[in-house]
Amino acid sequence: MSPQSSSSKNSRKRKPRAEIERHPERSVPEQAATILAMGRVAHLAFTENGQPFAIPFGYHFDRAQPDRLWIHGSRASRALNLAASGVPLSITVTLLDGLVFSKSAMYHSINYRSAVCFGRGREVTDAAGQRIIYEQMIRRYFPGRTAGRDYASPTEADLAATMLVEVAVEEISAKARQNGPGGPWDYDPDSPGTAGVIPL
Ligand SMILES: Cc1cc2nc3c(=O)[nH]c(=O)nc-3n(C[C@H](O)[C@H](O)[C@H](O)COP(=O)(O)OP(=O)(O)OC[C@H]3O[C@@H](n4cnc5c(N)ncnc54)[C@H](O)[C@@H]3O)c2cc1C
Repeated sequence: MSPQSSSSKNSRKRKPRAEIERHPERSVPEQAATILAMGRVAHLAFTENGQPFAIPFGYHFDRAQPDRLWIHGSRASRALNLAASGVPLSITVTLLDGLVFSKSAMYHSINYRSAVCFGRGREVTDAAGQRIIYEQMIRRYFPGRTAGRDYASPTEADLAATMLVEVAVEEISAKARQNGPGGPWDYDPDSPGTAGVIPL
């Protein structure tokens, strides 16, 4: 291995975990909260005995507390119990904005906004705090739904059967691709083929 490749490998290792290396011009940290507020599915990643897992979850996010995410589910969930134990977690939320087609196979792409969070979780154990998050979470997914009018609040038994995990976000990165196709012939009307964006 040449000295140059050795040092570039070492410098890769020293990069902060939330620094975007590929296409840094697509870094949009100012959009992180919007992405988390608009997202519907969070992929919770963790390792257990050296085995990586990425498990999909619904989640709650509140712009007033942008350094927190909440996930919940059955007390029997392996993923939730691990998340509550304080092990390092990574959580990814992705918004799909468009399918990008090009006159060149190489330049087919996807327009997206995504956020990758690093943090650690803890169980929320007080019932009043749980109720607040569950009510806010229902309203985030179903704007306008109101406890006591549209649905019954959780019972004590419901709360006991459910685990709520608050993840303190230590670092976050956000990245977006929002352009048309970037192939060499895409804007040449004399070149064969088709190019464009299918909005999603
Ligand atoms: C859009 C979406 C939202 C969800 N929201 C929630 C939520 O809010 N709360 C909640 O508790 N659960 C939710 N789930 C289910 C969640 O993904 C897990 O299946 C569940 O939490 C059980 O986790 P576990 O680690 O105990 O599963 P285990 O059964 O212990 O996992 C064992 C293995 O099963 C497989 N597996 C587990 N889950 C899935 C999956 N979803 N798809 C494919 N393979 C899987 C994996 O290989 C995993 O390693 C959601 C799933 C989806 C797709």
